[in-house]
Amino acid sequence: MNKLNYQKAVFLLSIANLSQLPPDEGIEVAIVGRSNSGKSSVLNQLTQNKGLARVSKTPGRTQLINLFALDQNHRLADLPGYGYAKVPPSVKKNWQALLDGYLRSRECLRGLILVMDIRHPLKEFDRLMLEWCHQCDLSVHILLNKCDKMTQSAASKTLREVKKALTKYTNEMSVQIFSAMKGKGVKELRGQMDNWFME
Ligand code: GDP
Repeated sequence: MNKLNYQKAVFLLSIANLSQLPPDEGIEVAIVGRSNSGKSSVLNQLTQNKGLARVSKTPGRTQLINLFALDQNHRLADLPGYGYAKVPPSVKKNWQALLDGYLRSRECLRGLILVMDIRHPLKEFDRLMLEWCHQCDLSVHILLNKCDKMTQSAASKTLREVKKALTKYTNEMSVQIFSAMKGKGVKELRGQMDNWFME
C-alpha cells in the first residue's frame, strides 16, 4: 500500500454518543491530550492543515469525538481531553462514558496517540488514559510535546523517567520527544502511525 498522506485528512463528522460512529471498519488511530497539552498543534503539524484542529476547537465540539478521514479505510479520531479536575461532575460523567465506551468497544481502533506537555507529564488524566488502554490492551504512543521549552538533556531525562513509569504496563507503549511548534519528532510520529495504519 502507498504511504498515507496525512495532509489529505478531511473532516468527517462529530459524534456525541457511540451510536453515531461510522461502521466499525477499516483502521482508526485516535489522539487525545489534556487541554493545553498541544493536541491541536500536533494535529496541525501532522496534517499541515490548521482547519482540522479548528474544527475540534469549535465551541460545542470540544466535548465530542471528531473524526477525520485520510481515505476510505483510514481515519483519525480526535478525542475530547480535559484538564480533568476542573470539569463539572455531569460533564465528566458524559465524557467518561463516551471515551470509555469508545476505547473499549471500537474494534477498528488500532492505537492511541497521547499528547502530554513534557514539563508536566503523567498527570491524573494521562494516567487514567494509560490505565484504560492497559485494560483494553490498546497500543499507546506518547508525545512529550513542547520539548523546545527545555534543554535537550532535561528532555532526555524526562523521556527516561516516563519510559520507566511505563514498564508496569503490559500493552504496547512507546514514547518520544516532540515539539509541535518546531516540527521536531514529526517523522517518528508519522512512522508510528504508518505502522498502525498499514500493518
Ligand atoms: P490543546 O488545548 O491541547 O489543543 O493545545 P493547543 O494546540 O491549543 O496548544 C496550547 C498552547 O500551547 C498554545 O499556546 C500553543 O501555541 C502552545 N503549544 C503547543 N505546542 C507547542 C510546542 O511544541 N511548543 C511550545 N513552546 N508551545 C506549544
